[in-house]
Amino acid sequence: MGRLFAVEIVYRGIFQKILAKQISRTIVLAAHREGKPGISFGRYGDSPERNGIPAKNFAIVATDDLTLEEGMAKYEPKEVDITIAVDDTLCKGVESWAWYGLQPINRLLKPGGTLIVTSREEPETLIGMCHCKEVPYQLAIVKAIPSFSGLWVYKDDHTDVRVLGAIAKVLPELFSLESVQEVILTDTNNPLKATSAQRSHERLTTVTVRPDQGNPETPYKFELPKWWEMGEGIAIPSIAPGSGMSDPATQAVGGYRPERTPTFKKYTTRTMRPVVDFDTCIKCTLCWLQCPDSCFDVTPEGLYDANMQACCGCGVCEAVCPVKDCVTMVNEVAFHDNASQWEMWRKDKEGYHTWLKGKIEDHPQRSHGFRYRGQYQEQIAEMAEPGVKCASEKVWTEPAPEAPGA
Ligand code: SF4
Ligand code: SF4
Repeated sequence: MGRLFAVEIVYRGIFQKILAKQISRTIVLAAHREGKPGISFGRYGDSPERNGIPAKNFAIVATDDLTLEEGMAKYEPKEVDITIAVDDTLCKGVESWAWYGLQPINRLLKPGGTLIVTSREEPETLIGMCHCKEVPYQLAIVKAIPSFSGLWVYKDDHTDVRVLGAIAKVLPELFSLESVQEVILTDTNNPLKATSAQRSHERLTTVTVRPDQGNPETPYKFELPKWWEMGEGIAIPSIAPGSGMSDPATQAVGGYRPERTPTFKKYTTRTMRPVVDFDTCIKCTLCWLQCPDSCFDVTPEGLYDANMQACCGCGVCEAVCPVKDCVTMVNEVAFHDNASQWEMWRKDKEGYHTWLKGKIEDHPQRSHGFRYRGQYQEQIAEMAEPGVKCASEKVWTEPAPEAPGA
């Protein structure tokens, strides 16, 4: 029996779809150059794939056909050699919008496997975001801002080749730097991209993460129902029909909280979160009405507190709020819990104001797409490796994108 290699690429649905596909197919092509057969395929975290929702691509490679066949006789790999998170906020966990609740980013990693993250954060920050794992694993950081673009647009900022150069470093048995550079050159006819892969390969460092390091919280756990427990057809228990629309705890103090499912949280879809200035809020209700996920709890004073378990970070509340800087979307990396902002404000208004000012200073480190003309060029220039001239200032769109849900 030969050896099987498995790599998963965890990405933000739509915004990073083409990036993930570029990485997974090039893994297979580079391994194939060395005589190893392989296959790359995607798995929706939701169907249809939606903006920002965690989704996965896999690349499976083997040293021979039979081993590959055996490896492919599963819906998806049970363990992987490498997990790639192309957005660092995915380190907080991954909740597919399908069925299996919040899962740690490192869940599928083999003992000693490597988590590669594109991030500007230090290892300590990323380790703190990842759930503890029972066995040690490696963390490798490709220094980069998250490569996000708009619908069906690919941001050609070399993130794909930098990740590929990193893979060649942490798992040279999968493919060598030379093999992947050859594929990059054949594919793109751009020597600068091959150089970027090499720079990333040379500069990559890894740290070992011990079982006692990381977020100790237990993520969502479930047991598959036995056959005698199954109902007719397929039903996912959610909010019980006829259940109340108010949370008694909040109602007791005069507020209002819509009923929410206790298992389906959605917050790992978020890359930014709204920070609300309750002192300048004019209680216009627009954020509450427009939030597509009914995230706002109404406080006893008639203020609107975005519930951080439910918020998926779409930014609509910031867009509709008529008061300057009353709602500001801030990089999710800047937060360590999902605590209520209103509770914090209620207990210590001055302290909250200082906290809020500090958080808003982080803004805007990221966005879905681009906020102003020229931002793409600025980000590309920022991403370029020192000494490597930026390859392209054009946005390259894929021909004939498949329709959502296809
Ligand atoms: S960002 Fe604002 S509008 Fe969007 S889900 Fe969160 S609270 Fe709702
Ligand atoms: S939109 Fe802004 S001003 Fe209006 S209720 Fe929401 S936070 Fe307050």
